[in-house]
Amino acid sequence: MTAIDETHDPQRESWVASANRHSEFPIQNLPFGVFSPPGGGPRGGVAIGDMIFDLRGALESGLFSGEAEKAAQAAAGTALNPLMDLGAGPRIALRKQVSALLAADGADRAKIEGLALRLLHRADQCTMHLPATIGEFTDFFAGIHHARNGGRRRDPNNPLNPNYKYVPVAYHSRASSVRPSNVPTRRPNGQRKAPNEAEPTYGPCQKLDYELELAVWIGPGNTQGEPIPISRAAEHIVGLGLVNDWSARDVQGWESQPLGPFLGKNFGSTVSPWIITAEALAPFRVAQPARPEGDPRPLPYLWDDADQHEGAFDIALEAFILTEGLRAKGLPPHRMSASNTTDLYWTLAQLVAHHTSGGCNLRAGDLFGSGTISGPTRDGYGSLMELSEDGQRATTLESGETRTFLENGDEAIFRAHCHKPGFVSIGFGECRGRIV
Ligand code: CA
Repeated sequence: MTAIDETHDPQRESWVASANRHSEFPIQNLPFGVFSPPGGGPRGGVAIGDMIFDLRGALESGLFSGEAEKAAQAAAGTALNPLMDLGAGPRIALRKQVSALLAADGADRAKIEGLALRLLHRADQCTMHLPATIGEFTDFFAGIHHARNGGRRRDPNNPLNPNYKYVPVAYHSRASSVRPSNVPTRRPNGQRKAPNEAEPTYGPCQKLDYELELAVWIGPGNTQGEPIPISRAAEHIVGLGLVNDWSARDVQGWESQPLGPFLGKNFGSTVSPWIITAEALAPFRVAQPARPEGDPRPLPYLWDDADQHEGAFDIALEAFILTEGLRAKGLPPHRMSASNTTDLYWTLAQLVAHHTSGGCNLRAGDLFGSGTISGPTRDGYGSLMELSEDGQRATTLESGETRTFLENGDEAIFRAHCHKPGFVSIGFGECRGRIV
């Protein structure tokens, strides 16, 4: 697993003043993304405080050497797939050199500060893009509380299917409709039929929902026919983000019998634009919570002692909505839930190992969704389907509005933060999207 090194040093501060004590992007984070500065085209960058550090510009200025230079070349284009394909070695070398360049006590401070005007861009003046050209998007179902809440409606006594504790269940979702934060999502039309209706109808989705999920960015792939063993799975994960798997519940409910989600999910998904690297997340690894007494032990291809010991993450998650009514009154987004990635029943390495166990080949830039991450109680439910009990129970907002599902103009906003004593807290930046 990834080592703790000087880039995690809690004493390290940046000469980019806004980075110090920044809730998302202090110098200990250094996530990778693709951005366009004002008047410029897309290129790789690193978030630092309220600014973005231009990797292409830094490369052209000759600021990198060795493996880091190789990684910066791979990150200089319009998508980070080449960087993701390089694996951890060059990526870590680049992280170390970027950290040294931006450090307040860095040896190159004078040199880089002179270039700062060209290499640093105010984030609020830049456009963020998808960090990678996403080849495939697989959405798992690893949040056990969400799985149980969904299944309870089908069978209150046996909410989990018999395979759930053996198989990290997933479906192949749609990569073409994944967009970065702040690109609006159009309310889909679809075919639906409620149980009390005689015939299906086609029209605007009436039960539009969000799903709070972890995004897993895949790095180096595997050869078709050659599974990734669980002990090597972490080497294939570049980093994490947040994904909103927008869901048309009425469409999903009617169409999913028996093959699962299709048009109920494929009209759009929103991802946060920054890849929080495995390196940045190293201090926040924790043991996978022990399975409840009586649950089966995973089959051997899904079991690894080291993965169980440090393969989970302690990432605090929050979901908010911002409505027209809240906006009009100048009120902040309403927090709908708070949960944690330790609520996942499977580790990310188990997802990678299972995905490839039949020989399926992953490729750099593939995206996994973890599945909705709900906490065990209502204040942790990561979708409106669960919070509203399928529309039966409304949430009242500070504006006086009520919500069961999303209305046009509503924004879903997800945030994630990692805290640990002795380390500087980091954030993921927002996953944000509006329904129009
Ligand atoms: Ca989902």
